[in-house]
Amino acid sequence: MIAKIATEMAADRLFDYNVPPELESRIRLGQRVRVPFGSREVTGYVMELATATELPPPSPKHRASLQVERQLDLFAPPAPSPASPSPAPSSCASQFCAAPETAPSPAPQFCAAPETARLKSLRSIEDDVPFFSETLLRLSRWMAEYFYSPVEKVLKCILPASVRNPTVHEKQQLYVEAVAQEKITEKLTARQTEILEGIRRVGGGWLSALPHEFSCSEQLLKTLAEKGAVTIEKVQRRRDPLARRKVLPTQPLPLMPEQAAALRQIVGMLDTPAERKPVLLFGVTGSGKTEIYLQAIAHVLERGEGAIVMVPEIALTPQTVQRFASRFGNRIAVLHSALGDGERFDEWHRIRTGEAQVVVGPRSAVFAPVQRLGLIVVDEEHEPSYKQEDAPRYHGRDVAVMRAHLEGCCVVLGSATPSMESWRNVAIGKYAVAKLTERVQGRPMPSVRVVDMRLETARTGHAQIFSEELLEALKLRLERGEQSILFLNRRGYSTSLTCPRCGYTAECDQCSVSYTYHKADDCLRCHICGAWKRIPQCCPECGDPAFRFAGFGTQRAESALSKCFPSARVLRMDADVTSRKHSHDELLSIFRSGRADILIGTQMIAKGLDFPNVTLVGVLLADTSLSMPDFRASERSYQLLAQVSGRAGRAELPGEVIIQTYNPEHPAVSAAAGDDGFEPFASSELAERAKGGYPPYAHLTCVTLKGADEERLQLASEAFEKALRECAAPYGDKVRISEALPAALAKAKGLFRYQILLFAPTTRAITAVIRAAMARRGTTRSAGGISIEIDIDALAVG
Ligand code: ADP
Ligand code: ZN
Repeated sequence: MIAKIATEMAADRLFDYNVPPELESRIRLGQRVRVPFGSREVTGYVMELATATELPPPSPKHRASLQVERQLDLFAPPAPSPASPSPAPSSCASQFCAAPETAPSPAPQFCAAPETARLKSLRSIEDDVPFFSETLLRLSRWMAEYFYSPVEKVLKCILPASVRNPTVHEKQQLYVEAVAQEKITEKLTARQTEILEGIRRVGGGWLSALPHEFSCSEQLLKTLAEKGAVTIEKVQRRRDPLARRKVLPTQPLPLMPEQAAALRQIVGMLDTPAERKPVLLFGVTGSGKTEIYLQAIAHVLERGEGAIVMVPEIALTPQTVQRFASRFGNRIAVLHSALGDGERFDEWHRIRTGEAQVVVGPRSAVFAPVQRLGLIVVDEEHEPSYKQEDAPRYHGRDVAVMRAHLEGCCVVLGSATPSMESWRNVAIGKYAVAKLTERVQGRPMPSVRVVDMRLETARTGHAQIFSEELLEALKLRLERGEQSILFLNRRGYSTSLTCPRCGYTAECDQCSVSYTYHKADDCLRCHICGAWKRIPQCCPECGDPAFRFAGFGTQRAESALSKCFPSARVLRMDADVTSRKHSHDELLSIFRSGRADILIGTQMIAKGLDFPNVTLVGVLLADTSLSMPDFRASERSYQLLAQVSGRAGRAELPGEVIIQTYNPEHPAVSAAAGDDGFEPFASSELAERAKGGYPPYAHLTCVTLKGADEERLQLASEAFEKALRECAAPYGDKVRISEALPAALAKAKGLFRYQILLFAPTTRAITAVIRAAMARRGTTRSAGGISIEIDIDALAVG
């Protein structure tokens, strides 16, 4: 028997090993094993089992001299020959294709273990219970192929580091339990009897915790054990991320008619596999989408199946987790980035063993080893944070759709402002849609007003942070004892330091962005690389001392606010104040409990928060996202404005939204302010995209080349563009390739950046072209020191 193994070495291929006869009966797909590798022994995962090995392919002669992030895949299928230019359909989760038939990637070819044609033998099986289910293995194959990423990187991404790390174990602790009274023969002191009764009353406890609870010494407990009155034994102690929370159980709410219809549709999909499609749950903010998720999950649990709920990391607040914990108690597991290694290890194993059936977590939760998966929910499916920025650059939503397909389970994508991709998938019938057009219990949508800041500037003679209208509205809330949220997507104090005489702007040496002034530590900071610098006394260019700060960030808005309303209690929330483990939660709970009047923050306050006493939302500058150099700027702006607005008036009190902007006519602004809502905005946005041939009408891949030497980078980029064009020739005009140009962020962390964009009807066509071009680059040696990143279905271009 032969096992095909993915090792933890970055080889981007599988290796064949002999399975020794004594292991044949135990070996399973997805198990973790130890294998010899060169002169060492390494960890690997069983990807396939076969009876014979294929002939090793010719030894790799040329390696990419480009320092590529993904090693050249020499065994990939060749690019189509000019005679047959029809690209194969891409197995894409999000668009166009009906993924099914093409889902799992074609099995790659294999070769013998390194440096030998004779197969080596697998050494041992580390864990009998497989780490990967067969479906997760298939998913990893698909991801490696689709997102053009080495399979080892994908496996690492699926398996949390704390689970892979051999130094993280179950936590064993000493547990104290009382022995039955009649079995105790030794005489106890009065004090010992008192403690023993206490232990009996609470049913036992940890040796480390009981002394605290009963104000006794650990020695006393040990003496009780010596006298045979209690037992002290090592047991596994779960590190529970929710241990410190009070969770009150909740019952399913009676649904509003639209909610009930949406739930019926989802349950229908659960019960009739033949009609299954992803369901887009398109419901305005406050329409009760979460209640639908909860009831759909309850249905899944009744069928003896499990569920995964994905939420954007930013929305993974205690509030969200609480809503799931309250309904499902111990059956839920939580995964998020703030968990300690031990907590993550325990939660992962609780899921794998089936102890927890409902998983709540961010994008990586899509890989949770849930048994008998029945449903995946992707809340706020439009959120860009579902896209991973490092390789494998996967999109959590698209992986969810693919996993659901491979598992044969349901997937629900929820949003008040769906992505253009999902909306189009509804239009072409690939997704079903359930709509919630009203807030629960007839609560009105907030009224939205747009304030033209150009008029405000003209009236007062200089640029303002707060318009007269917004100040009035804030004042009213303070008088009424209601709360307000102010949103500004820029942190720091001032956004730049500019010389009024020569126009010089202080820029980071390592990145092509201007420094932001941070008042708390009185320095200039780069938001790309984190570098900081003292404030120069005069302009470094012309020597003029009249350096001026321009623009404003959250810090300045906060201090301006305190000047306008000295008695108001203002909280600020942005990346500068939430770097500690719990500060995000702490700030939110202060605000929730009414100990602050105004919450001012960046996009981390735009999502998912539900504060009943908030009746005013102010957007200080809608223009920050409108001016992004990206074809998605309009979509993003609309989403952000609609989501922030959705924070107002969520309970009995009606809400009001004030949007300040220098671009009141912008379609995204007027759509967010108007009554027509999402659909007309989406149609006109899609029409624009269709005209330009942008996603969702084409797949877009962004190739970024980076290097410290600008000239060499330019040459290498142009050469790579040329190679891409030549390799794309067989596809005719199906694959479009942009010129190699400096990226919008032309330099970051000391490296210059060039970009080439590829558009095609399928991703498979794009990856075939890139693969061929990479192979070709492999033979030239001129481009040392240059790295290439390949971002499939890139979300941000710049
Ligand atoms: P969304 O996720 O669509 O923004 P939520 O699920 O957060 O909306 O619901 C908004 C509020 O309405 C929550 O406080 C929720 O508890 C409440 N809610 C949801 N459904 C109902 C219902 N059927 N009856 C009463 N209240 C509901
Ligand atoms: Zn920098």
